Amino acid sequence: MRWLAPASLAVLASACAVVPPSGDPQAERSPQPASQPAAAAAPAPVATPAPSPTPAALPPARFVYSGELTQGGWVRGTAPIGTTALTLDGEPVQMAADGSFLAAFDRDAGGTATLAATRSDGTTATQLLTISPRDWQIEHINAARRTGGPSESFMQRRRPELERIYGARAMETGAEGWRQDFIWPVRGRISGRFGSQRIYRGEPGSYHTGLDIAPGAGTPYVAPADGVVVLAADDFSLEGNLLIIDHGNGLNSAFLHSQRLDVKQGDRVTQGQQLGLIGSSGRATGPHLHWSLMWGKARLDPLLFVAPGDG
Ligand SMILES: [Zn+2]
Repeated sequence: MRWLAPASLAVLASACAVVPPSGDPQAERSPQPASQPAAAAAPAPVATPAPSPTPAALPPARFVYSGELTQGGWVRGTAPIGTTALTLDGEPVQMAADGSFLAAFDRDAGGTATLAATRSDGTTATQLLTISPRDWQIEHINAARRTGGPSESFMQRRRPELERIYGARAMETGAEGWRQDFIWPVRGRISGRFGSQRIYRGEPGSYHTGLDIAPGAGTPYVAPADGVVVLAADDFSLEGNLLIIDHGNGLNSAFLHSQRLDVKQGDRVTQGQQLGLIGSSGRATGPHLHWSLMWGKARLDPLLFVAPGDG
């Protein structure tokens, strides 16, 4: 049988290539300030009536945003006033009551993406985003890709695990961590980068779906942003002790291979709160924290969510 969807999960644990640090594109877009009418100019000449006062500043009539507009990156901003529905390339995007939103770009996202707002008066506003490509670390291996796929006995164990993972990632908790600037869950040597990939005699293997941080077994790690624990599972076949935190608006973090989990499903966690200890449970070649971030189905680069540097 072919190894279908599970392959992308298998690689969570099995393809943690050790790669040296390299420069990452840090494409930044500054928020585009809302254009406001110029303030009333010099005092009017005598006998000329003053202009009628301009209304108080209104929310912008267009998108205001900033972020990392690159593959594996994200954008956060505010939709035009009166927006009732928001999409990215036609797919719905959650929007908070105050009009703020998060959208993100898969590792393999194309060169452009379009935000579209539908407003209560029936009009639409669009914003074209340019998504810069990344120079992913590609390693060519002069060997055939492993074939055969998993055994049926393995899949009997694996299927229910996958159902729990999919179910957890589909949960909506109303968490607000997506609004925050993320912090490092732990500082340490980067032993594997998001997006790196091996090519076996021309046939691409699955890419690495997370960031590997290896400060040593037993090191505590913390929540990079506020959230709700949607999965705290013991002894999954590949991920070991697996923790998934929902940050709200479709964004979630997964932490793999923990030695110990210090939170349980349903817990509300705050940024900086200890979540567990780093280990090598599941399929791991050594103790490390594999941190992956997803927004909907898009796989994201955690390095683009935290301040530069690996401590
Ligand atoms: Zn990894």
